[in-house]
Amino acid sequence: MTIHNNKNLARLGVCSVVLIAIAIATSATSSDPEQSSSPRGSYGGAYVSVDAQGYSSSSEGVSSLAVVSSVPSVEVSDEPSLVVAINSGSALAAILDGVRYEADQYARGGSAYNTPDTISGASQDALFQSERYGTYSYQIPVYEGSYTIHLHLAEIYHESAGLRSFNLSVEGNIELSQLDLYSQVGHDGAFSYIVEDVRVTDGTLDISLEGLTDAGTMAGFAVYSADGGIASSRTVANCSGYVGLTFDDGPSRDTRDLISALKRNNLMPVTFFVNGANISDPTVIQEMLTVGQVQSHAYDHADLTAMNRIKVMHQLSRNNDAIMKAGAPKPTIIRPPFGSYNATVTSVANQLGLQLIRWDIDSEDWNSVSAASIVNSVSQLQDGQNILLHENQGNTINPKTVAQMAAALKARGLCPGVIDPNTGRVVAP
Ligand code: ZN
Repeated sequence: MTIHNNKNLARLGVCSVVLIAIAIATSATSSDPEQSSSPRGSYGGAYVSVDAQGYSSSSEGVSSLAVVSSVPSVEVSDEPSLVVAINSGSALAAILDGVRYEADQYARGGSAYNTPDTISGASQDALFQSERYGTYSYQIPVYEGSYTIHLHLAEIYHESAGLRSFNLSVEGNIELSQLDLYSQVGHDGAFSYIVEDVRVTDGTLDISLEGLTDAGTMAGFAVYSADGGIASSRTVANCSGYVGLTFDDGPSRDTRDLISALKRNNLMPVTFFVNGANISDPTVIQEMLTVGQVQSHAYDHADLTAMNRIKVMHQLSRNNDAIMKAGAPKPTIIRPPFGSYNATVTSVANQLGLQLIRWDIDSEDWNSVSAASIVNSVSQLQDGQNILLHENQGNTINPKTVAQMAAALKARGLCPGVIDPNTGRVVAP
């Protein structure tokens, strides 16, 4: 479901430089989304795609401008472009309708939660599968200007009406009042709301949530503007490349300490290659997701090359089940135990939609090397590479080692990234 706070849809059509988008926007106007009482989600997808066309991101904007220059009657200066989009409650980016929502930042307060459940009423699930909940705010540093905010919400926690009520304000004005998401879209239903033409003059765009019954919740948001912009873009500007920190063999009894150290040093996202046999407390998987991805290391760390196809299938599918049962998304990559694989392992992995990933640098922490040696290995990483680490090795998860890893990467302008399942290379999160 998408709700628009402003009937100014015609403006969208005028701003649109793609004629098809104008046609869609016009037809969308004829069935007023504010008055829509159609079943949830039946209308939202089409409507959001109009926004994605009309408010193209900056990279798409370049080609759009080329079109505009040959159509003199269209004013280019009105074209809003993407300022920032955030995937609330997640250390990972998510794509929705062609817009990339970056890993969560700019929040003051609130907590993260996520679900592996399928979302109804959205063209893509990922953005809606994580939330930041509580009474909290986003404070986004922006230049003076007018901003349009697309708010995305979902009820991924409660399973009946009356259990949640909250206010959502933008720049101090309540836009959503006493919202009970369940009664709007049900459990795991997507709810989007657009606030147009918010004037910001104080240098900070404020989006605040106030829990009335239980907590406020938001899955993400995108901010567009024709005349404004972000006043700092630290995550993009400071990274000359992305490298992968991978921690195998967990969860372990030290996982929570490692997560705390990673958070303290802002060293995330990381990738955990876990063994389902080690998951005794599913909540630790949830905590892992707040600092990165949970991926497969097969079920009990047995050597897969010593098994027939049926046993390999059992190891991999059982591990996927254990990971998803603990609340994490279905794994997309697998690091085979000991890094050893053969044609059977490759074939079974591919059958399950898993890409095999090894490592570029082995820290040899499994071989009891010193903390200094581990940090030195991390400092050898080049853009796109990942390093093999283990979360059950004291020298690796020592808070001092983690702080030194962070410093070593920062000194070279490298940031943690995620492994692209298609290429095996580490890319921006
Ligand atoms: Zn291992």
